[in-house]
Amino acid sequence: MTARVLFIGGGVSTLVAVKRLREGPPELQDKIKLTIINKDEWHYMPPLFADFALGEVTEDQLKAPVANIAKRYGTDLVIDEVVDIDPQKQVVKTKGGKSLEYDYLFIGSGVRYAPEVVPGLERYGYHNYTLEGAKKMREALKQYKGGRVVMLVPELPFRCGCYPFEMVGRLLYFARRKDPKAEVYLVTSFDEKQMKQMFKDVYRQFRKLHRKMGIVYKAGKEVKEVKEKQIVFKDGETLDYSLLIYVPPVRPPKFVEGHPEFICPNNKKVLVTTFPEFRHPKYSNIFIPTDAAMPCVNFPIAGIFVHAAAIAAADALISDLVGVRATVTFPDEIMAVADFGPTGMLVTFDIDHEKPAQKMYASQQSPMIKFMKLAFYLGWIDALK
Ligand SMILES: Cc1cc2nc3c(=O)[nH]c(=O)nc-3n(C[C@H](O)[C@H](O)[C@H](O)COP(=O)(O)OP(=O)(O)OC[C@H]3O[C@@H](n4cnc5c(N)ncnc54)[C@H](O)[C@@H]3O)c2cc1C
Repeated sequence: MTARVLFIGGGVSTLVAVKRLREGPPELQDKIKLTIINKDEWHYMPPLFADFALGEVTEDQLKAPVANIAKRYGTDLVIDEVVDIDPQKQVVKTKGGKSLEYDYLFIGSGVRYAPEVVPGLERYGYHNYTLEGAKKMREALKQYKGGRVVMLVPELPFRCGCYPFEMVGRLLYFARRKDPKAEVYLVTSFDEKQMKQMFKDVYRQFRKLHRKMGIVYKAGKEVKEVKEKQIVFKDGETLDYSLLIYVPPVRPPKFVEGHPEFICPNNKKVLVTTFPEFRHPKYSNIFIPTDAAMPCVNFPIAGIFVHAAAIAAADALISDLVGVRATVTFPDEIMAVADFGPTGMLVTFDIDHEKPAQKMYASQQSPMIKFMKLAFYLGWIDALK
């Protein structure tokens, strides 16, 4: 019997899982029929949205047609948006009115951004978390003449743990070319004690670098509302800005609304999943190795974790279908590459499989590292052209 495997999303998680399945044992290939459903025609490398906003890459360099993934890895492709799941009947419903049946489902829909939860954020701030957002931010950066730039992180968890710490360095570099007196502030809802807990040794290394660069931290500040050129905090304090860049709050995808069993019990802002096979705890034929589920197993929202999770989930499916079990289900160490503007850092996450949990440390600092990061992302997209 052929198993119908349906992938929601044509992003990083799906590409990695599909590739892993197609690299699996030859006897697997007759047993699976793969279908990807993606809401638009593009596979993006989201970290490159930041490089695009800063004017360092073109639109063509950060995206490739999802159809190329389908062609290369022998999958069917549906361009449509998933609006509901029925896990009992094993069917997903789309905006275009389709019902797609599956035997196995992979949820790879990334995260849903919810900037509306902070009044004024969308109206007055800019972000580079979507291509549309990055286009507006690129324009705002072009118009920027000088003054205080604020990078605001209004909520935990957020997409890509290192991003705001990297971006403040890149923004300072950018802003000082226009205004030698420009200031850059990093404003976070979490305080420095929480930063230490989250980032462990790397916090000390970020902090040292940022102090040297003159980046100002305002941590533990809950935002009440954003006004034109001013942030109002819940404690009554205000902060003026010339340019506001923000990290959007995240919420579970709309298609799980009405299905509480898809929400993480310990964190209602994210999807449920389990470690180390990234299956739904109740529906063992549903895998959830995507951004929106990483905090449910104590990992940060980041592509490096999604990459490892998608491989672990694909390996679990291979084991279900042909009995070949991968010897390593999830790596002991995961490496990240960070770009701070003037320099880069090689950050390693030491994985504790028992809890699960992770501890970060930065093992190397060099300008070369930021170019490794850019080369990796550009190569990822180029390989799909
Ligand atoms: C600015 C920025 C910087 C980042 N920096 C880093 C970094 O330095 N290191 C790192 O490891 N990670 C980084 N990330 C995070 C990384 O991009 C994600 O972890 C990774 O893309 C997650 O893969 P995914 O497949 O879960 O989601 P995505 O790659 O976002 O793919 C989700 C796909 O699902 C589709 N989709 C969504 N909803 C639906 C629906 N209802 N129906 C159909 N299709 C749908 C989307 O169109 C998209 O194609 C960064 C992200 C951003 C935005």
